[in-house]
Amino acid sequence: KSDLKPIWCPGCGDFGVLQGIYRALAAIGRPPHEIAFVSGIGCSSRIPGYTTAYGFNSVHGRSLPIAQGIKMANPDLLVLAAGGDGDGFSIGGGHLAHMVRRNMDIAYIVMDNQIYGLTKGQLSPTSHKGLTTCTSRHGSLEEPVNPLLYMLAYGAGFVAQAAPTDLAGMATIIEAAIRYPGFAFVNIQSPCVTYGMEEQQIKGLKAMQESLEALGHDSSDRLAAMDLAQHYGRKLHLGVFYRNPEPPPTYGDLVKARQEELSKNALPVENILDLFIKK
Ligand code: SF4
Repeated sequence: KSDLKPIWCPGCGDFGVLQGIYRALAAIGRPPHEIAFVSGIGCSSRIPGYTTAYGFNSVHGRSLPIAQGIKMANPDLLVLAAGGDGDGFSIGGGHLAHMVRRNMDIAYIVMDNQIYGLTKGQLSPTSHKGLTTCTSRHGSLEEPVNPLLYMLAYGAGFVAQAAPTDLAGMATIIEAAIRYPGFAFVNIQSPCVTYGMEEQQIKGLKAMQESLEALGHDSSDRLAAMDLAQHYGRKLHLGVFYRNPEPPPTYGDLVKARQEELSKNALPVENILDLFIKK
């Protein structure tokens, strides 16, 4: 924990997410100087500043490419990325597919409150159809993005959902995402108490929530996970939708292996110089 006091509105769901991250990191036990925490722009993107990890509050929608650069430059760091639904699924949405296909060893936590909170309550990519906001006076005409379905369809190896209504469960899920050897995505329904819709508040979330474990969901079955993910916005399934039982190598592993392979046939430095220096 850093000495900074969060400046979120009293009751904001991001306080709960922060507690979940503290618990997960405490369970993992890596010292702060071995952790890099990258965010974009938005209320939730303040979160790295409330930890003692190396924090990088980047530009809007760009937490993932920056996190990727950090991980490739220093593979020993534990790298987390975080942000909101606008940051992650609108301006930053194009990065998701590439982060998944590269299988970067990064845990990405999205605080999804289905509204733009920092800029005072406009429609976000996950706002439901019909929602009335200051930018949709007569109700939104657009279908929302389904983050769970997108990530499962892209082929992500770890996809989960959590909510501050179940703090212990959320901490366990964040810890599992961090421990997953590859790209891991956690969508957290985090209420915006100032601009968020009624059913997104704690009472509404509790009424919608259902544990995937209690449903007997097999988290190694991607198609079953995609089936359940279609309930996004209507039901709040909490738990791990999908975890690849045989995680493939990460991008970092592949780059390291390629470097080792190429270095076997590399000419010694003195021979390279011979190519250019006439004797
Ligand atoms: Fe949280 Fe909403 Fe306040 Fe932002 S505006 S700090 S998301 S409650």
